[in-house]
Amino acid sequence: MAKKTVRDLDVNGKVVLVRVDFNVPMQEGKITDDKRIVAALDTITYLIENNAKVVLFSHLGKIKSEEDKAKNDLAPVAEHLAALLGQKVAFSTETRGEALEAAVAALEEREVLLVQNTRYEDLDGKKESSNDPELGKYWASLGDVFVNDAFGTTHRAHASNVGISANLESAVGFLVEKELKFLGEAVDQPVRPLVAILGGAKVSDKIKVIESLLTKADKVIIGGGMAYTFLKAQGKEVGNSLLELDRVELAKQLLEEAGDKLVLPVDVVVADAFSNDANTQTVSVDNIPTEWEGLDCGPESIKLFSEVLKDAKTVIWNGPMGVFELEKFAHGTNGVAETLSNLTDAITIVGGGDSAAAVSQLGYEDKFTHISTGGGASLNYLEGVVLPGVEAIDEK
Ligand code: AMP
Repeated sequence: MAKKTVRDLDVNGKVVLVRVDFNVPMQEGKITDDKRIVAALDTITYLIENNAKVVLFSHLGKIKSEEDKAKNDLAPVAEHLAALLGQKVAFSTETRGEALEAAVAALEEREVLLVQNTRYEDLDGKKESSNDPELGKYWASLGDVFVNDAFGTTHRAHASNVGISANLESAVGFLVEKELKFLGEAVDQPVRPLVAILGGAKVSDKIKVIESLLTKADKVIIGGGMAYTFLKAQGKEVGNSLLELDRVELAKQLLEEAGDKLVLPVDVVVADAFSNDANTQTVSVDNIPTEWEGLDCGPESIKLFSEVLKDAKTVIWNGPMGVFELEKFAHGTNGVAETLSNLTDAITIVGGGDSAAAVSQLGYEDKFTHISTGGGASLNYLEGVVLPGVEAIDEK
């Protein structure tokens, strides 16, 4: 089942509506990381070069009040995009109505218009986020064809993705195409051995992805806060570490079913407080002291994980190995990032969200085959869940 891509559309002289993900971090109206804007440039440039009139839609943050609106105004993004493209980018302060329609009508071929934050439409009854059919139809009426290039929101059915595609010929953009290619091949046709590394805070958030990857991967390494529920399931004491008591049974079951496919830490760094100033010690998982909290994987664990990863031909990583935001507990995550960056003959894929942030924070960005731009979307994809924003796009 192949979806149309932007190459399959006739865009010459057409008004092309594009859903992009410009949900960038901002501080006091300044963009602090423009990766998501840069990631959309291939599609936008292609459309400009092919004489389209380009109308961009994106959300930014969540809009629940007038204050949120002021904070999440997309105007600075239009300016930044203009600088990246080296050409003027018009901006519509309205998400509907005559001013927007006039701005679209005024576009010449090869010109670009960015529409104000689609979630401004959420203030009056969640019209964008609940995929209000009238809104999707209205936005679709502004253009000739639709391109969805916002991978980060493909796991949501909103008016600006699913709603528009229900009313227009539609295709995925280059970014969505790339994300689906890398994530899809890694889970569905992996070059083996496939090793999955799962970390992060909670088992409950990642049950589906653990279950799904256990059926597909040759090994599944579990680190981060999640590991303690599994260690508890093995009968070990975990002190004050993150523990989901109501998931211990499930962890037991998964351990039984998976056998040696599941790899857990053998040592951890424990702390007497959740702080960079805490006292710490590295202990075997059999000796976690009662009053202490496991906040990182230890060196023996990293050695073990490296051994498992040594022969991997495909690696999927989602979730940090410890509390990487605190320098003292970033060694485990750093160790895994370093090990992966040294695998010369493997496809290495980082799911978005915290693991992507960790890789970037630690300076390993260029060392991976693919770093996903969508946290929730890539997690859903790895779980085997259909992404509604992709599902809604026309088949070739
Ligand atoms: P997630 O969003 O589920 O991927 O979780 C990411 C968060 O898990 C990060 O903020 C980490 O600080 C946190 N985390 C990782 N390991 C631990 C741990 N051992 N204890 C508490 N939190 C952790």
